Parts: sequence; structure tokens; C-alpha cells
Amino acid sequence: MQVISPQHITVLGSTGSIGRSTLDVLARHPEKYSIFALTARERIAELAQQCRRFNPQFAVVTSDERAEELRALLLGESDTQVLSGVDGLCQVAADTRVEIVMAAIVGAAGLRPTLAAVNAGKKVLLANKEALVMAGPVFQQALSLSGAQLLPIDSEHNAIFQCLPYPCENLEAAGVEKILLTGSGGPFRTRAVAELHAVTPDEACAHPNWSMGRKISVDSATMMNKGLEFIEACYLFKARPEQIEVVVHPQSIVHSMVQYRDGSLLAQMGNPDMRTPIAHALAFPLRVDSGVPALDLITQGRLDFEAPDFSRFPCLRLAREAVDEGKSSPTVLNAANEIAVEAFLQGRLAFTNIAAVIEKVMNRAPVVELSGLETVEAIDLNARELARQALGAL
Ligand code: NAD
Ligand code: MG
Repeated sequence: MQVISPQHITVLGSTGSIGRSTLDVLARHPEKYSIFALTARERIAELAQQCRRFNPQFAVVTSDERAEELRALLLGESDTQVLSGVDGLCQVAADTRVEIVMAAIVGAAGLRPTLAAVNAGKKVLLANKEALVMAGPVFQQALSLSGAQLLPIDSEHNAIFQCLPYPCENLEAAGVEKILLTGSGGPFRTRAVAELHAVTPDEACAHPNWSMGRKISVDSATMMNKGLEFIEACYLFKARPEQIEVVVHPQSIVHSMVQYRDGSLLAQMGNPDMRTPIAHALAFPLRVDSGVPALDLITQGRLDFEAPDFSRFPCLRLAREAVDEGKSSPTVLNAANEIAVEAFLQGRLAFTNIAAVIEKVMNRAPVVELSGLETVEAIDLNARELARQALGAL
């Protein structure tokens, strides 16, 4: 009998929504996957619980104080070694014993560890779209040098990946006419525009179909999430902006589509549960059980599609402008959005002013080439500062 040794995986952001779903899928296949490292910024008690259950070699937190807290919680209960800081994150992402890295930290904080995994040639499961949006050309160069494999976890991009031939280096050569990027339209798709000014963080985070972290939930409510995904799709699939169209699909059953020259339109469908794209990318090119029940189309009954409303969702327009402008514009857009969303979640900014802050920053930040990681980080820092100034001026 052939014994197959399990693949070792690091889960960056294991206490988050994607991190937990990843652990749920991994727990179904202990013979295939072994957890090497888990990481988190907050919810240290939950991280300790995960360490007791999965017994990883390493756990990484963001500060020395939290490392002490975790060590105290694990004392006498687990052999897991506790590291801290960005260096610790990069170390467990690049360790030679690791085959797979799940990049599920939210926001720019995931950039360095995700890039460390790419530079080390890992199979990288990318949930952390902000990292790619802010540093697309840097990722593309690192991928071509290291031979790492970047598999999309974002449900739309995972769907597009599934609808494309593999490998697909050139959309035109593959007969692709267009990528149709679907989005639900979020919780405010039909809300009176005049009411949007006063919506609360909890209302914005109450997504009709998906249960997600708070930052991406707000992005879904402004449709900046679709804007970031538009840019993500350009980088992942080497697509020009005019090859991608956003289609609003309120039920989140069709996760995206690819339209071919011969009139075929391929769609990937499934219940809105991130365990499907996670299981797909983990096992690719094989298929494993994800725990997600099969989609029942008869119960579902109908699927609706409509054009996006750019006046209701100015963030979508801003993202489109950023991708058309290229160079550092997506980096600036992402940084300003992170600051504006944080301010909204803290009750310091009205919902409709998220777009206003981003637009101000985009008008003020210079547009420059992205020559490397240091340039990206400098542009990101500058845009954050401009966003804080814009917040103060409102
Ligand atoms: P979340 O807020 O639920 O979890 C984020 C994780 O990252 C947590 O473990 C947190 O402790 C960690 N983290 C946060 N800030 C950190 C920092 N500064 N340094 C180190 N670790 C930090 O977020 P989520 O919803 O799981 O989303 C994670 C990523 O996946 C995001 O980029 C999001 O856009 C993307 N994504 C999420 C979903 C979803 O359904 N939740 C779907 C598609 C894409
Ligand atoms: Mg998505």
C-alpha cells in the first residue's frame, strides 16, 4: 500500500472568517494536510484553542505582549512554539518544510508574509486580495522568478479560474471574449440613496448572503470589494480592464463567468460558502469534500442579473479609474479605502464619505511606477497619511 505523507500548511490569519473556514476544511482531511503554523492578531484565546486542537509547530502573533499571553495559555498543553511580528509571519510563510500557504490576513498587513510565501515558491492560496491590489506588478515579478503557484480563494476569481483552461497564459489565445465578474450588490443594493448617509457599521456588515470579516463586509456594502476584485482579476488573469464586466447577481449563486468567442458562457455555481473555493484551491487539480451541501437549483428557483449602478456605488467608479490610470493608483485606492473603512467602523466617518475620502486622496497622491516592495510601502504610507488628513478636513 502506498503511504502518502500529508502536505504541510501555514494558515495566515487563522482566527478570521477565511481562516476558520480553512481549518474546517483541513480538519476533514487529516491524512492529506498537516498544519505547520497558525497566525492571528487578536482573539488569542481562540488561537490557543486552535493550537491545542491542531498542534502546529508554530503560532505567530503580532506583538511580544500577545506572544506572552499565548505562551501562558498554552503552558503545559502544547509544544507549539510562539513567534511574534512580521518577521515571524514571513518565517512561517517561507519555511522550507511548508508546501502550502493560505494567505488570509486582511488588508495591507498581509503583503510581506504573502510575498514571502511567493518568493519561497510555495503553493499560495490567495484570499488577501488587498496584497495583490496594492502590489500587483511586484507579485507578478516574484511569481515568475520563484515559480510559486498563486491560486485564487476569492469566490469570483476561483470561479473564473475554474471556467478557464489550465494553464491560461493568454485570454485571447484561449478564445476568451470577456470575464463576467458577479457581485451581490451587498446590503444596500435597493436602499434609498438618501438613507445611505446614515447607515451604521452593523447595518453595513449585515451581508445578505455571506458571513465575512467586518472590513470586507463594509467593502461589499460600498461595492469597493467588487472594485478591488476588478483589479485583482486584471492581475491574476492578465486581463485588460475592457475584458472584464461587473454583473450584479443578488443571490450569489453564480460566482462569476467566462464568455468565449464561440458563444459559450461558462459559469461556476454553488452555495455561498467559502469552504468550496478553499477546498478547490487546496486540492487542485483534485477535488475533496468541503462540507458544503450541494446546490439545490429547484429550491433556489431563480437567478437574477442586472447592471451595476455606478451613481449608487461611487467606489466602483473610483476603482475602475484606478485600474485605468494604472501604476501606483490601485495602491493609493487600497490604502485610502483601508483608512476610510476603519474610520467608518469606528463611527468617525459617514458611510457615503468613504468614497469622498478615497477620491480626495486619489486626486492628491502622485501617480508613479511601482518599482519594488519598498516603493509600494512608501506609496501606501503616504496615501494613508493623505487619507487621515482628508478625514480631519471633513
Ligand atoms: P477577518 O477580519 O475575519 O480575519 C482576518 C485575520 O487576519 C484574523 O485572523 C486577524 O487576526 C488577522 N489579522 C488582522 N490584522 C492583522 C495584522 N495587522 N497582522 C497580522 N494579522 C492580522 O477577515 P476575513 O473576512 O477572513 O478576510 C481575510 C481576507 O480574505 C481579506 O483580505 C478579505 O478581503 C479576503 N476574503 C474574505 C472573504 C470572506 O468570505 N470572509 C471572501 C473573499 C475574500
Ligand atoms: Mg469575492
